[in-house]
Formats: sequence, C-alpha cells, structure tokens
Amino acid sequence: MTPMPLIQLERVDKSYISSTLTVDVLHDLSLNIWPGEFVAIMGASGSGKSTLMNLIGCLDRPTRGRMLLEGRDLSGCDRNALAELRRHVFGFIFQQYNLLPTATAEENVEMPAMYAGLPKATRTKKAGELLASLGLEERIHHKPSQLSGGQQQRVAIARALINGGRIILADEPTGALDSRGGREILAWLHRLNGAGHTIILITHDPQVAQEAKRIVTIVDGRIQSDTGSSDDHPESAPPPVSPRTGHAMELTETVKTALHALRANLFRTILTLLGIIIGVGSVVAMLALGDGAKQEVVSRIQAMGTNLLLVRSGAPNLRGSGGSTATLTIDDADEITRLPNVKRAVPEMNGSVTLRHGSNDSQTQATATTADFPATRDWHPEQGIFFTEQDVRGFAPVAVLGQTVVQNLFPDDLQPVGQIILIKNIPFQVIGTLSAKGATPFGSDMDDVVLIPLSTGSLRLFGQRHLRTINVEVDNIAEIDATQEEITNLLTKRHQIVDFQVRNMASLLDSANETSNTMTLLLGSIAAISLLVGGIGVMNIMLVSVSERTREIGIRMAVGARSRDIMIQFLVEALVVCLLGGVLGVAGGLLTALIAMQFGIAAIFSPTPVLLAFGFAVATGLLFGFMPARKAARLDPVVALADK
Ligand code: ADP
Ligand code: MG
Repeated sequence: MTPMPLIQLERVDKSYISSTLTVDVLHDLSLNIWPGEFVAIMGASGSGKSTLMNLIGCLDRPTRGRMLLEGRDLSGCDRNALAELRRHVFGFIFQQYNLLPTATAEENVEMPAMYAGLPKATRTKKAGELLASLGLEERIHHKPSQLSGGQQQRVAIARALINGGRIILADEPTGALDSRGGREILAWLHRLNGAGHTIILITHDPQVAQEAKRIVTIVDGRIQSDTGSSDDHPESAPPPVSPRTGHAMELTETVKTALHALRANLFRTILTLLGIIIGVGSVVAMLALGDGAKQEVVSRIQAMGTNLLLVRSGAPNLRGSGGSTATLTIDDADEITRLPNVKRAVPEMNGSVTLRHGSNDSQTQATATTADFPATRDWHPEQGIFFTEQDVRGFAPVAVLGQTVVQNLFPDDLQPVGQIILIKNIPFQVIGTLSAKGATPFGSDMDDVVLIPLSTGSLRLFGQRHLRTINVEVDNIAEIDATQEEITNLLTKRHQIVDFQVRNMASLLDSANETSNTMTLLLGSIAAISLLVGGIGVMNIMLVSVSERTREIGIRMAVGARSRDIMIQFLVEALVVCLLGGVLGVAGGLLTALIAMQFGIAAIFSPTPVLLAFGFAVATGLLFGFMPARKAARLDPVVALADK
C-alpha cells in the first residue's frame, strides 16, 4: 500500500471578501502533511498563518483550490460534515486558550465529547483522566479565571484530546505564556507527537519553530521555504479517518447547559423572567377574576328568583334605565294578579327621598310596595318585622330600612327598630331592617333603600299612583313564557300603547353574560398583550445574549458543535426562561386571584386559562427564541472565534 499524505492542500487561494473590500491572504499554496509529523508553520504576523490553520482545521474553506484529508476531497462537505471532522479528527489549541469562562476545567474538556454524544459518565471519567495526566487533578472544578495561563493551556490540550485529536492544531500556543510555561506546553506537544498525534504548530518565533521536525515558512501568503519531511513515512497508513456518527446531545444535557448559561447571567435572566411572569400571571389572574365576576352576576340574578317576571315602565327600545316616566298603575298590578299562573304581583313605586334622624341624613331610594315584597324577592327582615296587609290598607307611616341606610342614619349603634325617622319631613316609625344584599348585577347598592307601604308612599310621599315596576311571581316556571305573553297582551290592551316592558330573568342573564364576556375578553386581551411584550423582551435579551456570546458560539463550533446544536441550545434557553416564567406566572396569577378573594372579589379557578397561559408561554419561547437561535446557528465559526 502506497503511503498517503494525511493532509493535502492543492493550489489553495484564500481571500476575505466583504462588501467594501477583498483581502487576498493565501496565494496558490500547496502543502502535504504526513501522518505523525510535527510541522511548524512559521511566518511574520499577518502573513496568513492563522488563515491557513483555519483552512486545515476545517473552520473555513479555501476560496480556490482544494483540501484533501486522507485522500478525501473536502470541497463538497457541508457545514455539518466539517463540524463532524472538527469534532472527531482535529484538536485546537489557541493562543488565548479559548476556554468557556463560566465552565469548570472538567466541563470545558468534556464539551467536544458532549457534542460527540458520549454519555455523561464516560466523558466525565475521560476528562478527569486527561486532566490528571496533564497534572491538573487538583484543578478539575476550577474555572479558567482561577487557573494560571499554563494551566489553562493544559486544559485546552486535554480538550483537544478528548475525542482522539489525531491532528493537533496549535496556533501560537506559547504566545501568551512566560518562557517556563511555554517550554512546558512545547514538551507536551512533543509527548503527544511521540504518542502518534500529528502536530501542526503555528508560530512567528523561529526559536519555537525549532522544536518541530519540519519548518514551513510563509511570507505574504506564499510558502517561502520548507525544510521538508523525512522520507520514511510509515508504510502502513494509520487507521483511516472514520468519524463516529455524532449522536444528538441528550435533552437533559441541553437543558442543563441552558440553565448553566442562565445562571451565569442571573440578573438579566430574572428581568427577562419578570416579563413572562407578569404576562402569564396577568392572563391567569384576569381570566380567574373575569370568570368569578361573571359567576357572581349569574348567581345574583338567580338569587333574585328564576320564577320572576319583571314588568317595567317605559318603552322597550329605551335600553338600560327602563324609562324615567312611570306608566304602570296599581290597577295594572291588580289585573295581572288575576291572570292564570300568576301567584303574586308586587308593585313597586320608586322615588328619591331625603331621610333624616337626629343630625344624620341620607339621600336614598324609597320603594313603596306591598306586604308580599319579602316573599317575592326572597329578601327578609333581619331585625323587627316587615309591614303587613293591614299596614298597607291603613296608610301606616312605617318604614323598613336597608343596611346602608341603617349605617347612614344610625352610625352610633343605636337600635333603629322603634325609632322615628323623617322621610321628606314626614315622620315614619322604623319597624324593621332588611338583611344585606350587596350590589346589584349592574353595580348599584341594593341596600341603600327604604321600604314603605304602597298606599303611604303613593299618597304621602310621591302624590301619584304610577308604578316603576311590578314583580310578577309565577306558579309554574315551565309556563313562564306563556305568562309573559299574556301580561304583554293584557297591558297592551289596557294602555293602547307599548309603554312598558316585560322581562324574565333569562333575558337579564343574557345581557349580564354579554357584558361580562366583553369584560373578560377585554381583560384577557390586555393580559395577552403583556405576554406579547414579555415575548419581545425574551427575543431582545436572547439577541443581546447571542452577540455577547459570539465567542462562546465560536468555541463550541470549533470543538465540533453543529449548527443544529447551537440552534437547539439557544432555543432551549429561551424555552427554559419561558417555561420557568410560565410556572412562576401561573403561581403568581393564582396567588393574585387568591389575594383578591381575601378582599371579597370573586374568582374562579379553572384549568383552561392556566393551560392556555402556559401554552402561550411555551409558544412565546419558541417563536421569539427562534430568530436569535437561528442567528447564532448561522454564525461563521471563524468570524465567531475572532469576536472579542
Ligand atoms: P497571521 O495569523 O499570520 O498573523 P492571519 O491569517 O490572521 O495572519 O491574517 C492574514 C491577513 O488576513 C491579515 O492581513 C489580516 O488582516 C487578514 N485577515 C484575517 N482575517 C480576516 C478577515 N476575517 N477578514 C478580512 N481580513 C482578514
Ligand atoms: Mg495568527
């Protein structure tokens, strides 16, 4: 078998082409490197040594000409194939060490093996052994900043060796070290060469170059001299370059790396998290409170009784107040009572009045009604009694007070029952107080009311016989629609005009539901917008992170990370932030709703909004993390490595 060069460069040109200018660096350069050689590539600064090393190390491609690795032409290789070669064939040692500053010595050494898909335990063991053989067993868990330059360079050597490192490319490895440290590293390169590794040492220093068995001198991108290789190349070629097919990195590994990176920049991570937490939290809280408010409205309307029909004065097309002019009469109420299926018809006459007791006064709604009021409205006295049929027939000057009125007129704990109050300057005796009802579905205070007999109110307070409403209680709910129609027919006949409206609780429920659905939608969309803003925050931070960590990306690519690995790494980082923010946001949202409940605000917890917000958070991570991740994955390894 004829011996074959390990690396062949054939008439290689390299130009850096940018939009503004083209720099031609290497010119028509041909070079063979044999297995097991120790070659120094020497030249002045700017002569193109690093450019050459990047080509040999598959970090970059020639502009013209071709490179062969064990006879295999690399011209057709895509980014992934080149990454695979870097991962399994080459080991890089840089002047500035290029270790990840946030990772320990061991983690730095493990990195190429991680991208090669080696299981965690195996590569930790391997990294430990390599570091120990380089005299760093005490420094395994130290960060680069805690190591001397020589120690850092030895970590870099271990990293170059973990996947085999058949070809070691050392670019000015001693450039940043003192002479003793430099000699140490050169001794290591000799040892590795002795063990069969091919060494390519790049230097501007003739003394360092003397270490090599062969010196190739470059001037202005051309080979000026080559001391030549010894002719006794090993007859039997070393095992062919057969990279193991790279496994995908495990997910847990990726998540750990992401958490690591997030922890390294804790303050920024917290700020980013905050955006997502607020977004998710507000979605969850708003929907819980919205649902709670809706449920409360529904239950209040139902508490008013589903067997009720409400007859109100005013034309039906006047929405809302039900008309300001009272058009119903007490006789209408009597007639309605005679209809079939009507159990009771309770008239209500309303007006605003001034109440007075001692020096306290209160502007209040007075409702004049009959003794059936408590039964029909399911609203009973808390203290004392309600007025009776006799009171109504006898024009009794008696009053029953709502709780708000009690508080306004009797602030100093005086028992109201038995007291005389003035309504429009007419004395009434308080005979009872009503239980508290709270606000109506439409927000007004139901307890701000004084109830008086219909007759008394009609004659002495309001001086008229017209009613605002008639509450009709039916016997059989199943026939409530028919009764509603009969009432409509009856009143239309009596009034000769539709100056009233008959509503049932179902229609009230409908309009209340409509209102609260609109509210929920509104609150929900405000919350969704804040989630969107959070997502934009994530994207922003991730973009900053990518440009800040360009060098890290370059290092990862140099040791063999595929574009996909980089992409996944940044996507997972965005996802982890959003998931974490999602979890904390859901917790925060639920907590907010719980606190609101302590203050008497209704809230309903259902899984849907929680899942929805959580799903949104994940989608936000993927969506807004994608662009930065792609930006990172598309970086050119050489450009990324050169980043300061
Ligand atoms: P050396 O390592 O021998 O000092 P380099 O290979 O780093 O030299 O650089 C050779 C020449 O190419 C220099 O003139 C340098 O300015 C130029 N150069 C290197 N990298 C780039 C690049 N990415 N874009 C443009 N010019 C570059
Ligand atoms: Mg250089």
